[in-house]
Amino acid sequence: MQEIGHYIDGARVAGASGRFADVFNPATGEVQARVALANGDELARAIAGANRAQPGWAATNPQRRARIMIEFVRLLNRDMDKLAEALSREHGKTLPDAAGDVQRGLEVIEFCIGAPHLLKGEYTDGAGPGIDMYSMRQAVGVVAGITPFNFPAMIPMWQFGPAIAAGNAFVLKPSERDPSVPLMLAELMTEAGLPPGVLQVVNGDKEAVDGILDSPGIQGVGFVGSTPIAAYIYARAAQNGKRVQSFGGAKNHMIVMPDADMEKAADALIGAGYGAAGERCMAISVAVPVGEETADRLIAELVPRIEKLRVGPYTLGNDVDYGPLVTAAAKANVLRLVETGIAQGAELVVDGRGFRLQGYENGFFVGPHLFDRVTKDMDIYRTEIFGPVLSTVRAKTYEEALALATDHEYGNGVAIFTRDGDTARDFANRVQVGMVGINVPIPVPLSYHTFGGWKRSSFGDLNQYGGDAFRFVTKTKTVTARWPSGIKEGSAFNFKAMD
Ligand code: NAD
Repeated sequence: MQEIGHYIDGARVAGASGRFADVFNPATGEVQARVALANGDELARAIAGANRAQPGWAATNPQRRARIMIEFVRLLNRDMDKLAEALSREHGKTLPDAAGDVQRGLEVIEFCIGAPHLLKGEYTDGAGPGIDMYSMRQAVGVVAGITPFNFPAMIPMWQFGPAIAAGNAFVLKPSERDPSVPLMLAELMTEAGLPPGVLQVVNGDKEAVDGILDSPGIQGVGFVGSTPIAAYIYARAAQNGKRVQSFGGAKNHMIVMPDADMEKAADALIGAGYGAAGERCMAISVAVPVGEETADRLIAELVPRIEKLRVGPYTLGNDVDYGPLVTAAAKANVLRLVETGIAQGAELVVDGRGFRLQGYENGFFVGPHLFDRVTKDMDIYRTEIFGPVLSTVRAKTYEEALALATDHEYGNGVAIFTRDGDTARDFANRVQVGMVGINVPIPVPLSYHTFGGWKRSSFGDLNQYGGDAFRFVTKTKTVTARWPSGIKEGSAFNFKAMD
């Protein structure tokens, strides 16, 4: 049985705690590896190494740090297929989707190449007689990241890219469900020239997470995962005086106005609702057609498309639309929620419960489901299902549709499909959700904007990647300087590079 350990001080190390978690092949249901779960001593060793490496790394000029990011991007592209395959094998998503996972992380690393520019401070010449004032942004020190299973390449890169480019060391605690790709990323960073200790990967569970939250050797914590854990991480890390940003779950609505192009809206819902088996924090899980006629037309467009969906293992390449869920427990939870939907009176228009795939009977596959006439009080509306289940809530008016997305406890993403500019503009201004798509179903902002939800989808005040990430991983220091006037003797005439 393959054993997956940690990455400490520039090399892979085996786990020493004697505790392990199973890593499944979700397509077959087989245990394909076991991942070590770190104890306090192993975590302390990783944190100590990061603290030793950080001052030297922060003192390395930002252009040199950026060059390592440039080389890392080249290596990611070189190894794209290998990374995607390793990712699909543990997560279950299709190969093109896995490559997209790497690509969306890579794009944030490309943004980080601009670190020398992004880290420039502010300067006031002559703030008083002979007085200049300037602010600089300095690394906070050692930052830790705790990441979810659903984007094992992208989210670690969203976190460690800005932190490392800004001169921090980083301790990554990836999801124990799919730990291989984060370790491969750390190896590539070393190959790109990153000094040992600047990026540590510690695999583990709650024990390692709590150790991170309580360690005086960690100055900042970034978390992405489910809302109950996000709230816990935020409170405990903040209580311990750390800087913290913590991102949680989602229930993303797509409003379909009567004037929308119904075919395009249906196509969008298929990709956004069922892609990656619904295991995306930006998946659309609620369709909100406005008016009965719109609803009937939308359902009529959706059903044949859903019936054509191809569900299967990633090994079939481009012939599958989505793969299995990540674990048997995730599958059981989705099927349990489907039962509550039926019991609470929703109309199950497409029933995926009987789905079986020959040769993969023990895989964690779930067929696509479509519910109609879902109401606000039902569990399938209130809960994040994280599976291939789309709920339709029929709204009578635009205002009712707007209120649904605004009043839901989650506020990650939302979309509206309409041909009317006024409606779209009003919606974007008034909806209480962090990321809005107009005729775009999954409005994940590009790397030079920032990513973050509102309400119980996010705890903390700065978003992921973009300018916000650089603010999160740096502290401002402001210097007020008075110098007596006078010109020094002597000059230098050589043209010297900074490095
Ligand atoms: P999860 O909350 O179960 O796990 C996330 C991380 O927390 C993992 O590293 C895990 O080891 C750790 N963890 C789990 N239980 C813990 C506990 N009791 N104490 C301390 N640490 C614990 O989430 P998941 O199932 O891996 O990921 C899916 C969730 O992540 C969904 O809710 C999804 O919406 C959310 N998500 C949010 C975003 C976003 O940007 N808002 C992005 C991706 C995923």
